[in-house]
Amino acid sequence: MAERARRATCSTATEEEHVDSNDERPVAVVTGGSRGIGRGIALRLAADGYDVAFCYRSDTEAADQTAQDLHELGARVHHAVCDVADGAAVQAFLKGAAVLGTPSVLVNCAGIVRDSPVVLMSEQDWRAVLDTNLTGAYHFCKAAGYTFVKAGRGAIVNVSSVIGLHGNAGQANYAAAKAGLHGMSLTLAKELARHGVRVNVVAPGLIDTDMTAALKASARAKITDAIALRRFGTAADVAELVAFLVSDRASYITGQVIAVDGGLVL
Ligand code: NDP
Repeated sequence: MAERARRATCSTATEEEHVDSNDERPVAVVTGGSRGIGRGIALRLAADGYDVAFCYRSDTEAADQTAQDLHELGARVHHAVCDVADGAAVQAFLKGAAVLGTPSVLVNCAGIVRDSPVVLMSEQDWRAVLDTNLTGAYHFCKAAGYTFVKAGRGAIVNVSSVIGLHGNAGQANYAAAKAGLHGMSLTLAKELARHGVRVNVVAPGLIDTDMTAALKASARAKITDAIALRRFGTAADVAELVAFLVSDRASYITGQVIAVDGGLVL
């Protein structure tokens, strides 16, 4: 058990030798895999037999816990701090993740919000949200996409939001980033299809994570009223669709934006 725990917390290049080689298991890369929806996706893929490389921004305690939980599911794990907005850091992360083998699945889930009306929004907040939610996905799609093309196979899922489809007052930066993610993903689906690579988008509605934990009870009740199924979703609800889309069961599905929103009417 101690050995398991030690290997589960493998997080830097210098520790990579602790990860045993196993070419049998497919490898999935999940950005923002330490908490919330990304964590749910990582756990689901591990349960499906994937080894998992995930990155996060700063919360090492959460990341170590997720790594340990993944390991308990039988997955080999590589996790490291990597700001997805930093192209060089993304390259370094993927280089480190290669210790698990060549990935065949990429899930871009890292995301942030910095809400305010456009007329009050600082350029800093505008850029931070675009850099993380959109440019971050571009960095990973570019690098992992190249690997997938060389291998002649692969599946990418980009996690956007229903806000990218409908907009939302106070979230112009987030809506722009997520709508941009749709455009990039549909284009990438067309570019990579002939190389055996599928690209889809999952657009969650309101999901119970740290991101939505700050909602006031009154706002939460109002939103819940607008959801046909009358509840917030769970990370597992989103992970279920992601697991399907990256699997061979979805081998004829590419270039789609699929909402997981419980019938949210915005
Ligand atoms: P959380 O805030 O719970 O988790 C965010 C994750 O992304 C963490 O692992 C965080 O790492 C990581 N992250 C944030 N910024 C960066 C960065 N620059 N580089 C690397 N990792 C980063 O968010 P959710 O799980 O709620 O959201 C996940 C995704 O789902 C996001 O893209 C979000 O937009 C989308 N989404 C969420 C919805 C919801 O209702 N929760 C609804 C619709 C879409 P760390 O912990 O170290 O900061």
